[in-house]
Amino acid sequence: MNSWMKKLLQVLPEKQILTDLADRYSYSFDASFGEYLPEAVVQVKNNHEVAAVLRVANVYKVPVYPRGSGTCLSGGPLPVKGGIVMDMSQWPEKIEMQPEDLIVKVSPSARTSEINKAAEAYGLMYAPDPSSAHVATIGGNLAENSGGPRGLKYGVTKDYVIGLEVVTPEGKIIKTGGQTIKNVTGYDLTKLMVGCEGTLGVITEATLKLISKPPATQTILVSFSEVRTAGKAISKTLTSGILPAKMEFLDQACIRAVENFQPAGLPIEAEAVIIIELDGHPESLKVEKELIKGIMKQIGAVDIIIPKTVEEAAGIWHARKQVSPAIAKIKPTKVSEDATVPRSRIPDMLDRLNEIKRKYNVEVVVFGHAGDGNLHPNILCDKRDQEEMLRVERAVAELFQAAIDLGGTLSGEHGIGTMKAPFMESELGAAGVDMMKRIKNSWDPNHILNTGKIFSEQGQRLVLRHD
Ligand SMILES: Cc1cc2nc3c(=O)[nH]c(=O)nc-3n(C[C@H](O)[C@H](O)[C@H](O)COP(=O)(O)OP(=O)(O)OC[C@H]3O[C@@H](n4cnc5c(N)ncnc54)[C@H](O)[C@@H]3O)c2cc1C
Repeated sequence: MNSWMKKLLQVLPEKQILTDLADRYSYSFDASFGEYLPEAVVQVKNNHEVAAVLRVANVYKVPVYPRGSGTCLSGGPLPVKGGIVMDMSQWPEKIEMQPEDLIVKVSPSARTSEINKAAEAYGLMYAPDPSSAHVATIGGNLAENSGGPRGLKYGVTKDYVIGLEVVTPEGKIIKTGGQTIKNVTGYDLTKLMVGCEGTLGVITEATLKLISKPPATQTILVSFSEVRTAGKAISKTLTSGILPAKMEFLDQACIRAVENFQPAGLPIEAEAVIIIELDGHPESLKVEKELIKGIMKQIGAVDIIIPKTVEEAAGIWHARKQVSPAIAKIKPTKVSEDATVPRSRIPDMLDRLNEIKRKYNVEVVVFGHAGDGNLHPNILCDKRDQEEMLRVERAVAELFQAAIDLGGTLSGEHGIGTMKAPFMESELGAAGVDMMKRIKNSWDPNHILNTGKIFSEQGQRLVLRHD
């Protein structure tokens, strides 16, 4: 047994340290593309255990990879340099409501959908709603600054965090922010931690802001005979003075995949659909619904479906949630991207994706939170086919470039992880990346925390093939 493992046994109960191959193997994946075996897995259950493990790791310079539920799509929790996976999912779930302050205190292991459920019991809402909310942990959401369909109107995770407890890579427990809505004391380390992808600290508690739950919602399903027209309809709606809570886009391949997987009555002949959710006072929803119908007719929508019951509306949103599992059935490998562009450039991005699809002869399906410009082009392929994967690599690189050329970004919500690290400089420039590296160096001088993520190593490029 090596010396850091012996030290771990002194700071954690033995049953919380997993070293069997079968156990370690189940922590070698996330929902992205990649497989790396850790040397050990620690299942931490409180902040002192996190601090103790990090202190050992920092002394022995062993990499530590925090992990929530492992649903990351960019390789975030993968132990790319071996070392220790720190599993946060076994931490007893705490969701402590303070409804009179419109806040909730949660453990890193709390599942996002459970936080929202607890808030709803008080007529409140935790707004960020990633599609993985029923499995993903709030710790993972905070580390990735996750968003969901409601991001269009309500923003993303960072907009709802007012305080954190964090363990630094050197094993110190610190508090950032607090429990008041206004707080300008010192640097805003809360915002720095959110979205740092677990590279600067381990989040052990979060204080989240809640808002009132809107009294009513109205779903509208609009189908189009041209993808570009659907893209235009998004900008047209958003500049009309109406701000839907959600505005989701599905291309024909997604529609058909869902209908083959779990039929939901989506229009399979449509080239694309947009699913809209309005929320607010029931009377204003009646007016907004008519305005949206007018806009969609004017722009050339083929059909506009208004569900008659709450159940019908829920069925449409359930179908939207089925897109990921449905397209995963088409081919063995799914490379999910989340390039994001300014909303007026969505039609151009959809054109560029079509060109890329043809140029590299790859199967691309597109869906996403189009109301905020966040598209999810997914390339469906087979990682055993080396020649196909080479084409996929080239297509992905061109897809990132297309987003940047159109004034967009590499990632709207899935993070950089391992997958997009080689492209950071093309968006931020060398000086921008260097400033981020300096922050990393000051927080984590021994580079133990989630090392190998966000920043590419010399000469690293996107490689999706396994030699
Ligand atoms: C079907 C599907 C749908 C999805 N839909 C969405 C979506 O709509 N929107 C969206 O934004 N994402 C989505 N995702 C991506 C993913 O669910 C999110 O990134 C989610 O936040 C990850 O949470 P997790 O608990 O699984 O974290 P993990 O995948 O385990 O980890 C994610 C990152 O967080 C770090 N981390 C985890 N816990 C902590 C902690 N306590 N402290 C510090 N760092 C930590 C890890 O090191 C890693 O870098 C989807 C994924 C799938 C598979």
